[in-house]
Amino acid sequence: MRIAMVGSGYVGLVSGTCFADFGHEVVCIDKDPDKIAALQAGRIPIFEPGLAALVADNARQGRLTFTTEMREAVAAADAVFIAVGTPSRRGDGFADLSYVYAAAREIAAALSGYTVVVTKSTVPVGTGDEVERIIREAAPAAEVAVVSNPEFLREGAAIADFKRPDRIVIGADDPRAAQVMSEIYRPLYLNQAPILVTGRRTAELTKYAANAFLATKITFINEIADLCEQVGANVQEVARGIGLDNRIGSKFLHAGPGYGGSCFPKDTLALVKTAQDAGTPVRLVETVVAVNDSRKRAMARKVIAACGGAVRGRTIAVLGLTFKPNTDDMRDAPSLSIIAGLQDAGARVRAYDPEGMEQARPLLPDIHYATDPYDCADGADALVLVTEWDAFRALDFARLRAAMLAPVVVDLRNVYRAEDLARRGFRYTSVGRPSEP
Ligand code: NAD
Repeated sequence: MRIAMVGSGYVGLVSGTCFADFGHEVVCIDKDPDKIAALQAGRIPIFEPGLAALVADNARQGRLTFTTEMREAVAAADAVFIAVGTPSRRGDGFADLSYVYAAAREIAAALSGYTVVVTKSTVPVGTGDEVERIIREAAPAAEVAVVSNPEFLREGAAIADFKRPDRIVIGADDPRAAQVMSEIYRPLYLNQAPILVTGRRTAELTKYAANAFLATKITFINEIADLCEQVGANVQEVARGIGLDNRIGSKFLHAGPGYGGSCFPKDTLALVKTAQDAGTPVRLVETVVAVNDSRKRAMARKVIAACGGAVRGRTIAVLGLTFKPNTDDMRDAPSLSIIAGLQDAGARVRAYDPEGMEQARPLLPDIHYATDPYDCADGADALVLVTEWDAFRALDFARLRAAMLAPVVVDLRNVYRAEDLARRGFRYTSVGRPSEP
């Protein structure tokens, strides 16, 4: 199959590369000339484990190419995927669909022969209808079907998720288009990937329902964590106690600083707006959004409390900036709100992240970027663990203690045990667990 991937960011680049790896002929398109120049030169513009080797391999074999020019690639394609961003619209929180619609217009101008246009971007219910309307208006003679195929991959584990997905959801109202889609995914199908073919609107909503459910699960355990702190219970044990029940499941029950990233915050908000517009508000998700928003700032207050109630003039070391490990993505990372809260209270912030510092610099211009965890802790009055990178899971606390002014650790990911840190002379605070051993 010949595939054109419009948008070569986290989703487009991973999906395009994996399709190529399964033997399809893929052209990845992006309007950002720097991104395409980097890819053509063999450099990967994002950090995603395993991606560089897979891109290099498929590019070398001629199955994966990169361009800024849509026309030729779209004209030759059996399927054109739209994988552009759908951020929150400023002001009202609806999904900003301007990139999707712009892509649809450009695609319409280049279509030739029967083509399936596939929306892989996360888009609100009904967007496929509008994409189809745009294309039919611009290219009335085009033989085209518009399909929804939402993506469920996780940054940091994107290649494995794409190649061995829990499910593939295809929203196609046209049987011929569904046929093309199952041909595209056939290599995964042999690996028993469950393909679910639904109506287009159902597929669009499924993506939002999945993300809202996961965000709800995280927010639920975070509130239970707060309760644990007040009543002397341990949230990790509660999570295990409920998670072993198969009806609940143990995943997404890790208490922490609140969800962030490029998907959950914007997708929960967009679902809330869609539901309000439809006259059926999703009040549970509205509450999840509000609870999570206030939580990030509350984490700054937690750090301040651990420092004795004030941080003016103090230095706080922050380990981990990205919203989760194994990505360089800083979009809506909890660290942004936590650091802003600390700075508002008068603290100086030093930070270190294994991969995220380049993307963090423009967002956090007023902090000191350290070269490693120990440099980060140098002269600090407290150390805050915000993202649980592997590199932060076995820190040398004697070395940290020697570098720091005061032995205060706030572990927002529950990586360490209170008794171990107490033994090493630290005052230790975590999330939803007793601070005293
Ligand atoms: P991204 O910002 O990393 O990439 C989008 C790319 O599209 C950019 O490189 C941009 O330059 C390009 N682009 C925009 N308009 C274009 C056009 N007209 N022609 C060509 N290129 C264009 O975004 P992302 O993280 O890959 O997300 C893309 C979509 O996938 C979003 O809707 C997102 O919600 C969804 N999604 C993301 C993830 C994730 O983990 N990042 C997971 C599942 C779904």
